[in-house]
Amino acid sequence: MKQNLIDDIKAQTISPQFHLIDGKAAPASDGGEIDVISPIDGKKITTMAAGTREDANSAVSAARRAFNSGVWSDMAPKDRKKIMLKWAELVEAEALKLAVLGVRDNGTEIGMALKAEPGSSAGTIRYYAESLDKLYGEIAPTAPNRLGLIHKEPVGVVGVIVPWNFPMMIGAWKLAPALAAGNTVVLKPAEVASLSLLRLSALALEAGMPPGVLNVVTGAGSVVGEAIALSMDVDVLVFTGSGGVGRRLLEYSARSNLKRVYLELGGKSPQVVFADTENLALAAKTAASAIFRNSGQVCIAASRLLVEASIHDDFISEVAKHAEALKVGDPLDLNNDIGAVTSAVQLKQNLEFVDGAKTQGCELVTGGHQLHKDTGGFYMEPTIFTHVSQTSDLCQKEVFGPVLAVSTFTSEDEAIHKANDTDFGLSSALWTSNLSRAHRVTRRLKAGVVHVNTYGGAEVSMPLGGVKQSGNGHDKSLHAFDKYLNLKSAWIAL
Ligand code: NAD
Repeated sequence: MKQNLIDDIKAQTISPQFHLIDGKAAPASDGGEIDVISPIDGKKITTMAAGTREDANSAVSAARRAFNSGVWSDMAPKDRKKIMLKWAELVEAEALKLAVLGVRDNGTEIGMALKAEPGSSAGTIRYYAESLDKLYGEIAPTAPNRLGLIHKEPVGVVGVIVPWNFPMMIGAWKLAPALAAGNTVVLKPAEVASLSLLRLSALALEAGMPPGVLNVVTGAGSVVGEAIALSMDVDVLVFTGSGGVGRRLLEYSARSNLKRVYLELGGKSPQVVFADTENLALAAKTAASAIFRNSGQVCIAASRLLVEASIHDDFISEVAKHAEALKVGDPLDLNNDIGAVTSAVQLKQNLEFVDGAKTQGCELVTGGHQLHKDTGGFYMEPTIFTHVSQTSDLCQKEVFGPVLAVSTFTSEDEAIHKANDTDFGLSSALWTSNLSRAHRVTRRLKAGVVHVNTYGGAEVSMPLGGVKQSGNGHDKSLHAFDKYLNLKSAWIAL
C-alpha cells in the first residue's frame, strides 16, 4: 500500500449522498440532509439524505415489488451467482477507494480497514455467491404412499440494520447470504458510517443486480430504522448493534407483523491467561491487539483480561508496554497503528467510563486520556485498568472503546466463574499449554466463540454469533442461510 495513493484519494471531494431506492439515487422526501463529519479532524466531508418514514416505506415497497416480480428470486441460480461474483470483483477493483472512503467516515486505521472492509466484504460476497447453487432441498423418510419434499424458499423482504464500526464487513455478512438466497433487501447503515455501504450497494447495481433488489435508506435509527422494523411488509429483520436497540426491535416486531428478528449484540469478552501458557510473550501482545485495534470498536474486542494471580505483575507490565508502543493518530497515515474513535459522542462516553472506573476503585496502569485534541479529531490513548472488581461498570458494561479491564484468579473454577459472570456471551479466549484444560475450559465458557492460544480468526467459513444477551442467530458460514430461508413441507400422494 502506498501513502501517496491514499493521500490522493483522501484529497478528493465527496459529492452529496442520497438513498438508493428502486435502482435510483433519491433525496429525502422532505429534502433533509445530515452533515457527514470525519473523525479524523472533526470536519464536514459531505452531506447525506436524512431519511424519513416515507423514504423507508418507499424502499420497502420497492423491495416488495422486486421480490414479488420474481426478477431476482426466480432468476436461475447460475445467473444470480454470476451477478454476485461480478459484484465481488467490482468491490475488489475499488478496494483502496472504498477503504479510504470508509476511513474518512469512521476512523478505522487504514491497514485494518483495507483488509476488514472491502477485502472481507468481497470475500463474503464471493463465498455466498459460490454457495447459492449448492443449497438443496430434502426428501423426508415417509410412508410409501406419500412423498415428503422439504423446499427451501427465500423469506421475502429482509430489513438490514448495521452499526458503524465495520460497515462493509458487517453489512456484507448480512447482505450476501440474504441476496444469495433470493430475497430483496432494505439496508439502513449507521448514521455515522454510511458512505462506504452506499458505494458498495451502488456496485451491486453496476454488476447487474436488478433495481429494487437492494435498497439503501440513510438517516436516524429512531426514524428510518424504526420504520423498517415496524413495517408490515418486512419479513425478517437482521441487526448488529447495541443491546438497547436490539430490545426495541423485538418490541417493534411484536407491535407489527411478528417478523423474525436476529440480533448480533455487544460483548464483554474475556481472555483467560493461565500461568502454564508456554508463550506468554505472544499472549501479552495478543491481549493488547485484541482490545486496542480499531480503538476497541470491535464487537469481539477482548475487553476483559483475567490473569492467573502468580503472573499478574509481569504479564500486565508486558501488555502495557505493547499498549504504550502503539502509535495513535490519523488513520490514513500508514505510520500509525491505531486510528480515531468514530464520533465525538463515542469518545465522550469512553472518557466517562475512565472517570467512573477511577471512582469505583480500579487502578489505572496506562492511558486514559484524549489525544491530538488540536487536530479537531477524536483520538484516545490505549487504556488499561487493573484490580477491576466483578461488580464494577468496567467489568459489566460494554465500553466499545480502547479500555482494557484486568482482574486475577487463583483457580480454574474461579477463572471460569469470572469469565462467565456478565450478561454477555459473544467471544472469549483462553491461553494454556495444557491440552485437557484447553478442551475443559472451552466447554465451560458461555460464549458463541472461544479462542485457544490465539484471538480473532477471520474466515467467513466459521459462524459468528452470541449467547445470553449478546444475541441470537449467526452471521458467516453456511449456517447464516438459516435466517434467510423458509422451510416448506410438501406432501405428495403417490
Ligand atoms: P446502535 O445500536 O446504536 O446502532 C446500530 C444501528 O441501529 C444503527 O444503524 C442505528 O441507526 C440503528 N438504530 C438506532 N436506534 C434505532 C431504533 N430505535 N430503531 C431501529 N434502528 C435503530 O449501535 P452502534 O453504536 O452503531 O454500534 C455499536 C454496538 O454494536 C456495540 O454494542 C457493539 O458491540 C455492537 N456490535 C456487535 C457486533 C456483533 O457481531 N455482535 C458487531 C459490531 C458491533
